[in-house]
Amino acid sequence: MSEGEGREPLADIFRRLIANTGPISLMHYMGEANARYYSSRDPLGGAGDFITAPEISQMFGELIGLWLTDMWVNAGRELPVHYVELGPGRGTLARDALRVAKRYGLEPQVHFVETSTALKDIQLETLPGAQWHHDLSSVPPYGPVLVVANEFLDALPVRQLVKTPDGWRERMVMPEGERFVCVAGTQPMDAAVPEARRDAPDGTIIETCPGAAAAVYEVAGRLIEQGGAALFIDYGYDQQRDGSTLQAVRAHLKVDPFVGPGEADLTAHVDFATLAQIAQSRGVRWLGTVPQGRWLRELGIEARAQALAQVAPQHAAAIDSAKERLIGEGQMGVLFKVMGLAAPGWPGGAGFHG
Ligand code: SAH
Repeated sequence: MSEGEGREPLADIFRRLIANTGPISLMHYMGEANARYYSSRDPLGGAGDFITAPEISQMFGELIGLWLTDMWVNAGRELPVHYVELGPGRGTLARDALRVAKRYGLEPQVHFVETSTALKDIQLETLPGAQWHHDLSSVPPYGPVLVVANEFLDALPVRQLVKTPDGWRERMVMPEGERFVCVAGTQPMDAAVPEARRDAPDGTIIETCPGAAAAVYEVAGRLIEQGGAALFIDYGYDQQRDGSTLQAVRAHLKVDPFVGPGEADLTAHVDFATLAQIAQSRGVRWLGTVPQGRWLRELGIEARAQALAQVAPQHAAAIDSAKERLIGEGQMGVLFKVMGLAAPGWPGGAGFHG
């Protein structure tokens, strides 16, 4: 039973709004759709719409916990220290990471940045000691921060500009029959396009994610002020490129993003190249952006899987297949990337070399 039941469908609200004031931007559409989507349900897991790495296996959170601990220990074990997770879902990653960290003496204050009340309730059960924040601004401004964001940036709304015969326009959304469609806006947007790109062929789409840029900018500022390190994990690309990457997932299947807004998870691929530039522009060290499979292997996922299988031989096959899902080339191993950031003076971080 979802909290959203009984509420007016978002599609109807959009129709009314657009009838009154004209087409809305794609960014507005995606932002409202995901705010509704996440506030009204737990989308994770077999019975939900999609599954994420920490829900596939405890090994994922454990290796992240080891990475963070290694950074903190090598940087001098400064206290107080904060674990800050953006969009923590069910809290599974935090639970697994912090269990391992504790074994090595790292017991940080836990901060969850989460807007969904439905997920907040679940996080409260998983980690009752955590503090909740609507955004990063209320996280304490002293003591190093260990920041983790898994499949968070991809949920933030993107803005799309399209080249038309009349110049660059923002992509707007309006109803057409039962669904919605994208149309070019009327406002000239040429000034928002880098000069080198302005002559692109008609139909070219440039996608940006102001929310992701702002999140990385803010995290980078915290790293500079307070010390610490950050991991951003998501599917995306490490070279800038054109085109729309907007997609929708419902019940583990790709569906039309322009049908039933608020009923499916809308995502876009993360532009890690731009985010690395933003972090570096603040003076933070970009440790690298590497494929998830490679990163997890370098952190020792094979050994961890073997150890788990020895303790629970009856689960050996399941452990092995979970490991394959996380690192396999056709699975999450290549499409998903891990971007590492660190404060000046902090160590280089395992998994980002070679
Ligand atoms: N990290 C978790 C969940 C990923 S789903 C995992 O790997 O399983 C995306 C998460 O980001 C959810 O917790 C969702 O509620 C949260 N989220 C989405 N948009 C947000 C926003 N604008 N601010 C804060 N959290 C947001």
